Amino acid sequence: MSHFDVIVVGAGPAGIVAAGSAAESGGKVLILEKMRQEGRKLLITGKGRCNITNNDEISDFITHVHPNGRFLRNAFSQFFSEEILVLLLKYGVETTMERGGRYFPSSNKSADVLKALLKWVDEKKVEIRCGFRVEQLMVENNTISGILANGEEFRARKVILATGGNSYPATGSNGEGYKLAGKAGHSIVPVRPALVPLESEGNVAQRLQGLNLKNVRAVVWVNDRKVGEDFGEMLFTHFGLSGPIILTLSRIVVDELNLNNKVEITVDLKPALDEQKLDNRLLRDLNEHGKKRIANIFRYWLPATMVPVFIDLLGFDPEKECHQVSSKERKQIRHLLKNLRFRITNHRPFKEAVITAGGISTSEISNKTMESKLISGLYFAGEMIDLDADTGGYNLQIAYSTGWLAGNSCMKQIEP
Ligand SMILES: Cc1cc2nc3c(=O)[nH]c(=O)nc-3n(C[C@H](O)[C@H](O)[C@H](O)COP(=O)(O)OP(=O)(O)OC[C@H]3O[C@@H](n4cnc5c(N)ncnc54)[C@H](O)[C@@H]3O)c2cc1C
Repeated sequence: MSHFDVIVVGAGPAGIVAAGSAAESGGKVLILEKMRQEGRKLLITGKGRCNITNNDEISDFITHVHPNGRFLRNAFSQFFSEEILVLLLKYGVETTMERGGRYFPSSNKSADVLKALLKWVDEKKVEIRCGFRVEQLMVENNTISGILANGEEFRARKVILATGGNSYPATGSNGEGYKLAGKAGHSIVPVRPALVPLESEGNVAQRLQGLNLKNVRAVVWVNDRKVGEDFGEMLFTHFGLSGPIILTLSRIVVDELNLNNKVEITVDLKPALDEQKLDNRLLRDLNEHGKKRIANIFRYWLPATMVPVFIDLLGFDPEKECHQVSSKERKQIRHLLKNLRFRITNHRPFKEAVITAGGISTSEISNKTMESKLISGLYFAGEMIDLDADTGGYNLQIAYSTGWLAGNSCMKQIEP
């Protein structure tokens, strides 16, 4: 039987940083990873470029974390964006800050980030065994004593669970960690897909599939009441809506759909123009091009693929000439440009969700140490905790910061 100071379950960013942090404090550390390779999910982050972290100050950063960003204040105060960037640089990863304070490796390769983290833990003599699926936590008198993996017993003074969430299960994070923690007595806040594309009624999105819109405003309506909005980029797909602002808004939408509420999203295609300014613009263009077909003038206001869809939605004859457009019809055009409406029927499944909302309840974890309040010697890190954040590098930072704190604080409790 093998004995370790610390066993980390899961070789994602949270688990690797937790292991490195414990090993830096002098621990004999083992990581058990059930996949044949470490960091499968890390490799696909940021479309293979890995948005490592964000430049926000802690006070702004925590506003992007749900449902309780303040839980992370202590973890962030010990290991934050600067610390991960310095660590990566030490192991050869230069970084570049892009729009919105997002950091990426200058090589644009997430594999370089994984390689650097693995180099670090290797140097600290962390042992990693891939292909080991942890199937049980061994708990005696409310104290952790080890784990069972592949039918083999591994003894440890501390165990850090960093098994990730439920999303993109093909990467290894398929929710098993919740079951391990649940069996040991922890409460799991129901898990839901977050940062997930949305399905819409009708065929408008399908007709526009592949079209990416920049600088638009999307507003979420629940039972005809406005509950959220975001500004930026979105994408139409064969099933509905996706892209950054839709993913961000999906957090509200998923919860409302689960409550069986009527959810709609309106897209303002001209957010820079208020109704009056937009009307002046339409009037000017229609007057200037009185003899042109209405379908042609729409090209001035919309991307080409949207034109036939708009004409259909308005029920206009495309052959109609601009001078024939009545003020009532101009109002209809204006309204549609500001309120292209989609009834949301569903969200896409976990396998397409960037992150998992819900997880191990933070009320049962100490935010000073990441230790379980129920089982002594058991720690949590990363996405499996009931914390999820917007896009922008926030989710990975949660993984490193909670991992670091768990690894560091569990070693402080081990008597030399
Ligand atoms: C497509 C996509 C793009 C993303 N892009 C970004 C981005 O650019 N920036 C950002 O900040 N965030 C991004 N994220 C989110 C980010 O990847 C996660 O927040 C992060 O990976 C969570 O780290 P983790 O270590 O907690 O979990 P994971 O990375 O999921 O790692 C958990 C590990 O535990 C292992 N495991 C599970 N159960 C067991 C078990 N029983 N025994 C042994 N091992 C087990 C799994 O195989 C896995 O390797 C993205 C996510 C996706 C899906």
